[in-house]
Formats: sequence, structure tokens, C-alpha cells
Amino acid sequence: MDEKALLERVPDRLYIGGEWTTGSAGTFPVFDPATGNRIKEIADASPEDGIRALDAAVAAADAWAATPARTRGEIMRRAFDLLQERRDEFALLMTLEMGKPLAEANGEVTYGGEFLRWFSEEAVRITGRYGENPEGTGRMIVSQHPVGPCFFITPWNFPLAMATRKIAPALAAGCTVVIKPAELTPLTTLYFAQLLTDAGLPAGVLNVVTTTSSGTVSAPIIADSRLRKLSFTGSTAVGKKLLQQASENVLRTSMELGGNAPFVVFDDADLDKAVEGAMLAKFRNIGEACTAANRFIVHEDVADEFARRVTERVGGLKIGRGTEDGVTIGPLINEGAVDKAASLLQDAVTRGASVLTGGSRLEGSGTFFEPTVVTDVRPGSEILREEIFGPVLSIIRFSDEDEAVRLANDTEYGLVSYVFTKDLARGQRMIERLETGMMGLNVGVVSNAAAPFGGVKQSGLGREGGFEGIHEYLNTKYTLTPNPFGV
Ligand code: NAD
Repeated sequence: MDEKALLERVPDRLYIGGEWTTGSAGTFPVFDPATGNRIKEIADASPEDGIRALDAAVAAADAWAATPARTRGEIMRRAFDLLQERRDEFALLMTLEMGKPLAEANGEVTYGGEFLRWFSEEAVRITGRYGENPEGTGRMIVSQHPVGPCFFITPWNFPLAMATRKIAPALAAGCTVVIKPAELTPLTTLYFAQLLTDAGLPAGVLNVVTTTSSGTVSAPIIADSRLRKLSFTGSTAVGKKLLQQASENVLRTSMELGGNAPFVVFDDADLDKAVEGAMLAKFRNIGEACTAANRFIVHEDVADEFARRVTERVGGLKIGRGTEDGVTIGPLINEGAVDKAASLLQDAVTRGASVLTGGSRLEGSGTFFEPTVVTDVRPGSEILREEIFGPVLSIIRFSDEDEAVRLANDTEYGLVSYVFTKDLARGQRMIERLETGMMGLNVGVVSNAAAPFGGVKQSGLGREGGFEGIHEYLNTKYTLTPNPFGV
């Protein structure tokens, strides 16, 4: 596909009230991290533009909430079908602005699209209940209602899926939306807004503001008493700031924040499966995933063999621009990400860890870091505390189950954990003992539109996807009426 022609088709303006409008703060560039080249110049919103977008979402709210659920669901189903037709375009666009290999971008189109299909089906299953109170004197009615206008802030690492995981349940529930994508990868959201319009979404139901001033544009929207919900996916540090802002109006919030996933390999694990799972859990999305395994906690009896096998597999990875055939490791998102991976690795090595393969940034254009395996990481190393967000697989050893649990839970995060063991009872014990929102038991990827995605501890609040996902966008109302028989 012609990259230039695709980029020309992507809107370069804000989308407010069904109109593509210029940004009052001028424009800003979007870059291809594999080349460092500017690929498009798009509208930069001012705080006033952000409020205009909220005005549009507020104006459209009543009519959208009153739109039959079947109609809402069918618009989303059409959007799902259109996304399949435009699959190659969306995949290439994500590779261009974010850097992930084309095959993985294709995988994200599948994953991101499934939220449209799932919530098109859930739209018509919003139910309530009716029942007698225990005293027999009344009837209790419990009903569900859209929360109202929502504001979404999304990260750069999954440009499509992080948007659809919020937009689809909100629209299904009857809510209108303002979304602010990450400034590093805004093009996919703009192109997706066009797709939703083509699928028949009425003006004002979805509004997009792109900006280089995330804080100053977001704060007035969050402070506005007409807003009813804030949903954020991104780092824990920014999530905490937003929670403080949201507390002013006691705003409903969903927070999908950072992770520091343990990947525990017991001595009874099927090592082939563990290595397979490790490659997915670590190197998918170039390691730039909140669900990326951050700490490989491996039993001392199998640690050397596990390290040998993953090192061998890493030798087969191909680094390069994501559009090239066979590339499995694209560039990191920017220089800052490369610096972070390099400094975390350096700290681990200084404290006594050994690099088995990789370990360096690539010279030349683009922000590439070699896929790396580092073993014998010492307690206290920063790499065990911080999200690496890059292709660095770090191994520590343990000797018994209690120690594995202690090491795995030794973090303020609790998004996802991976456990490899053939012992079912041990697997069940780990489900109960690990402080985690999600677990991969003998698998290296857990994400699925039909599953409740989310974390505990400082990894966040709320769940996206599954039956739970739509409830983030519904208010429960309880009504009591007298017993109609006059008792
Ligand atoms: P980030 O927190 O820097 O940015 C996320 C979004 O917040 C971006 O749109 C950014 O422009 C915006 N933002 C930044 N400062 C803001 C402010 N003061 N006010 C309002 N908005 C602001 O995160 P990132 O670097 O884009 O993404 C990586 C992080 O996201 C990692 O920590 C990763 O674990 C996390 N993440 C979590 C999930 C999940 O589902 N739990 C999924 C993907 C990514």
C-alpha cells in the first residue's frame, strides 16, 4: 500500500460536533519512529477547543441516550465491518506512527475491532431487575442508565485498541465522548473517527481533540461539571494527577495504569511452553505493553536452561522498520524510551547482572534498542521496580514457592501475572496468592475483548471489556414503589 496516499487520507484536524475544524493552537508534527521523519502535521487544540468538544458531547448526549440500543449496536457492528475492510490501512497507519511490526499492527486491528463487535452485542443486554422487598411492603426496581458525557485520554502504545476499548462500551451504553489520543500517535484515532462517521454515528457523539498540551487542555474538561466520567489509560504517575483533578467533582473514573508483570517459571513447567510464552509476553509490541512481562522469576533448577533457550530465540528476532518483511522488533517510540531501557540495564549490570545477548542501542536513524536478555539480576535493581517498556528480558532466581510469591508481589503494581507450572494445584494456589487483576496460567498473552481487563493496587481502577466493561458507563438507579396489592 502507498504510505503517502494513506497518510493524505487521514484527517489532520480536530473532530468536533461532526465537523473537522482547525486547532486554535496551530499544528504539530507526527513522526515515524523508525526513520525520525515527519509523516504528518495535524491540528493542535487549545483549552477552548477542548471545551467546544465537550459542548458538542453534551449537546448530543440526550438524543444518543434515547437512541434505541439496537440502533446503537448496529452502528458499531457496521464500524466493525468497515474496520475489517480497511484493515490494511489501519495496520499500516499504526506501524507508521508507532513503529510496531506490520503483523502485530494487524493483530491489533483484530483485537481492537473485537471491542466493537462485543459491545455491539452488549448494547442490547443492558438489563435491570424487579423484586419484592424482604418486608413485603414494596417493590424494588433496579435500572441502568448511561452516565453521560465521557472524557477519554489514551496512550501511544496501542493506538487503536486503547481507543476502541473505551469508545465501544461507552457508545453501547448510550454515552457521548470526547477523546484525546496521545500526541505521539494521534493519527489512528482521527482515522477511526472518520470510520465511525462512515458507519453512521451521529454528529457530536464522538469528538476528537489532538494536542501537544495534554495537561492544559484536559484540566478544564475534567473540571467542567457537565462531564460525568473520566477514563484514562497511561502511566500511574499521570493517573494519580488525574484522580486528584477528578476528585473535585467526585467524577466517576476508570484508570488503566502501569504494570510490572511477574513471569514465574516453576521447575515443573513445560519449558518449551514457558519459552514460547516468554517471547510473547516480553517481545510483543517491542516490549511496550502494560502487560509486558517485566520480571522473569525462574526456579534455580531451570533458570540456566530457560536463559539459554530464550537467548537462542532472541537471536532469531529481526530488528528493523515495521513495514519490512519478517521484522519482529521495531523501534522504540522515542529517544527517551531508548535512554530509559539503556539506563535500567546499566543499573542492573552495575549491581552484578550479566547480559547474555543484546544490550545496546542501534546507531543511525530511528530509535532502536536491541532485544536483550539479562540474567542474575540482583535484588534492589531498578529494573525490578520500574516498567522497562522495551525489549529487555530480565531474569532472577528463586528456590521455593513462598519465595516466588513474595518476589512476584513485591511491587506497587498489580496488572497481570504469568505463571508456568504443570501442577494444577500449584497453579490454583498462585491464582489465590498473587496480587493481580489478571493471570496467564501457562500462556503469555491474556488480552481478549470478552474478558475483564484491569488491575489492582496502583495498576488501576475498573475493568475494560467483558460483561464488566459496559458497567463503567452505566449508573445503577434503585426505585422503591409500594406493594401494588396494598399490603
Ligand atoms: P502517559 O501517562 O505519559 O500518557 C498517557 C496519555 O496521557 C497521553 O495521551 C498523554 O498525552 C496524556 N497525558 C500526559 N500527561 C497528562 C496530563 N497531565 N493531563 C492529561 N493528560 C496527560 O503514558 P504513555 O507513555 O502514553 O503510555 C505508557 C503507559 O501507559 C505505561 O505506564 C503503560 O503501562 C500504560 N498503559 C496501561 C494500559 C492498561 O490497560 N493498564 C494499557 C496501555 C498502556
